[in-house]
Amino acid sequence: MSARNGAAAHATYDALMAIVREAGILGSTAGILSWDQEVMMPPGGVAARSRALALLARLRHERLTDPRLADLLARCEADPGLTADPLSESAVNLRELRHDCDRMTKLPASLVAESAALASRAQHVWAEARRKSDFSAFRPVLEETLTLQRRKAECYGWPADGEPWDALAEDYEPGLTAARTEVVFAPLRTRLVSLLERIRGTGRLPEDPFAREAIPADRQATAVRFVAESLGFDFARGRLDVSTHPFCSGFNPGDVRLTTRFHERKFLDALGSTIHETGHGLYEQGLPPEHAGTPRGEAVSYAVHESQSRFWENQVGRSRAFWRWLTPRLPEYIGGNAASVGVDEAFAGANRVEPGFIRVEADEVTYNLHIMIRFELERALLRGDLAVADLPQAWNRLSRDFLGLEVPDDARGCLQDTHWAMGAFGYFPTYSLGTMYAAQFRQAAASALGDLDAMFEKGDFRPLLAWARTSVHEHGRRYRAEQLCAVVTGSPLSAEPLLQELEAKFREIYRF
Ligand code: ZN
Repeated sequence: MSARNGAAAHATYDALMAIVREAGILGSTAGILSWDQEVMMPPGGVAARSRALALLARLRHERLTDPRLADLLARCEADPGLTADPLSESAVNLRELRHDCDRMTKLPASLVAESAALASRAQHVWAEARRKSDFSAFRPVLEETLTLQRRKAECYGWPADGEPWDALAEDYEPGLTAARTEVVFAPLRTRLVSLLERIRGTGRLPEDPFAREAIPADRQATAVRFVAESLGFDFARGRLDVSTHPFCSGFNPGDVRLTTRFHERKFLDALGSTIHETGHGLYEQGLPPEHAGTPRGEAVSYAVHESQSRFWENQVGRSRAFWRWLTPRLPEYIGGNAASVGVDEAFAGANRVEPGFIRVEADEVTYNLHIMIRFELERALLRGDLAVADLPQAWNRLSRDFLGLEVPDDARGCLQDTHWAMGAFGYFPTYSLGTMYAAQFRQAAASALGDLDAMFEKGDFRPLLAWARTSVHEHGRRYRAEQLCAVVTGSPLSAEPLLQELEAKFREIYRF
């Protein structure tokens, strides 16, 4: 390639990236408004916020489906100088833009705007319905959402041997299908149910030592903030606030927002939720800032994002070594009787296994069973095998089959999660895939770094974070999820590391 052609290619690529970065800014701005809606906004703001989000979604969609962008993208793709090295910045950006733009051009702008407006309204209706445990109040808006999701799936299309779920899951986990999910879930379900039986067979149920007395929210807040900071979350580039359902929003690596929640007798819930969201936040803060707003600077997929949150929540925050470090430090923050809590007691309390109604409070053994309930139901809803009106009964039946629980009301049943109100169908399984990736990543980190427990006991999480930065965060979307897993761990995704880890840990705690 002559220098002149090189310069022209460079200009074409720069022009393309300028549009993409603008679209990225529109996306981040919508993200800030969504964060505000969850954390700060009074109920009176709903209608106006729906319109604002719909407008931003439309503008972003227009940018990314602009014929000029398609033209620039095609010209860049035809230039071997930009694509010769498939892992170069330009090749990665072009490959992932092609994927995203092809999907976007399949959706009419009106449908995108309609989805954003409906999601905003539906989340408000859902929050009210959940508060009153009134499924009938949520039902009409869920029916609207499902109709719209089916239209979306039809626009995307799916292979002859696939189903509508596949078309929607592609937004969260490129390449994932319902059939593949079923294959991965089957052995996990068998071994987890068997593990749960062995645990319950011991008749042991460790007490949660932090539930003995009320711990005021403001004290809990100082403790979880201390932990987030110790794990490496940078508060100069992030915040921690309160919302009904904890979440993390990263607008760019310099502004990452976490939320958590507090109940006086559920300190471990606040801590676990905070560590989980901190894991997401560390990933967002670790994405390469020079590539912000372009695929090279974005997270790989929802499952890989979840692998980072689970990694810190479970592999770190539910390890004995972590509790050796944290237990003696807690009295300074939460006061009360915390000084009388021992390490073994705290560690066992953080690893209580007890089937419960709420997914986000679930332990490591039952969590994936909660996901399987949702996967089965959303798949049936999309296929038309299940009517929205019958959702509560179907939910309650699966809770009985998988968890052995009688769901007392819909707030603790099918109204507990915000995902379907957001229009996020095909999302739930990414939580379980992430949990599996996390265990596999821990094995790789241990072979690279040596004795992780010795580091955790000292509260030195820097080597682990540095490993996560170079192994996962800094790559952005350079690799697809399964490819990243192979590069980092040397093996394809498998449930085996997770199952081995859980079986070993719970055998020790429950002595079976
Ligand atoms: Zn998460």
